Amino acid sequence: MNILTFDIEDWYCNCVYTDLDWEKYECRLYEGVDMILDELDKRNIKATCFCLGWIADYHPSIIKKIYDAGHHIGCHSYQHQLLTGFDEKQFLEDTRKAKSALESVIGDVVDAYRAPAWTIGYDNAWVLEKLAEMGFVYDCSIFPAKHSFGGFPNYGKAEPAIIRFDNGSFIKEFPVSTKVMLGNHFVFSGGGYFRFFPLRSIIRWTKQQDYSMCYFHTQDFDTGQPNVSKDLPLVRRFKTYYGIKGAFEKFKSFLDEFEFVNIREADQMIDWKEKTLK
Ligand SMILES: [Zn+2]
Repeated sequence: MNILTFDIEDWYCNCVYTDLDWEKYECRLYEGVDMILDELDKRNIKATCFCLGWIADYHPSIIKKIYDAGHHIGCHSYQHQLLTGFDEKQFLEDTRKAKSALESVIGDVVDAYRAPAWTIGYDNAWVLEKLAEMGFVYDCSIFPAKHSFGGFPNYGKAEPAIIRFDNGSFIKEFPVSTKVMLGNHFVFSGGGYFRFFPLRSIIRWTKQQDYSMCYFHTQDFDTGQPNVSKDLPLVRRFKTYYGIKGAFEKFKSFLDEFEFVNIREADQMIDWKEKTLK
């Protein structure tokens, strides 16, 4: 099972920037989203797109276009602030605001969530129960390896699971897939990792897995985005800009190799009775 997801955010939404006054920046998403939608349409792939609530408020036609093309709309917070900096009240406010902004644009329920920068870990795993309370059916925020902002290295096996809470509610978790090498989990199926590793290796590793969760952003392919590397720490600079040139061709070749589904389609393919995790 290969799941294809996108995080719909723009170049200025990077979580290392503290400036949240985004209206002044050039929006590159119109072009970036069109490029992706064209390629998905050619291959009849319906992806899950985790979108920022802010984009729904300020550039609603982008979200509407993705939805009208038949893709599954998920929530990626309001303005990409790290959940590790939120208490419960702030998290609930941010998520409700984002969910309702997205739902009012598409006129449909938003049932899937992905945290900004993979910031659900052991210390704030309470977030998952709150997501279920808010009506989310799916979470795709677990990055079962080390990550500079978040990650959940002790999560366990990177595969879909039902996480049940004491009050009887539950959420279906679809973590990022990893490759285990010498006992360590590492991610290769999205963002900077996809740009970094050779395509041949990525294809081989993907074929070795029963479950693969891929994630991309328009910025992974956008050679025309403003370069803000002087504002970034060295490691982040590398992760943000490495391999952008040529990444879109690589992405298209990757799409040609596999069949892809979105989260809702994946849900239908899983025998959950076999997979319940307490
Ligand atoms: Zn993001």
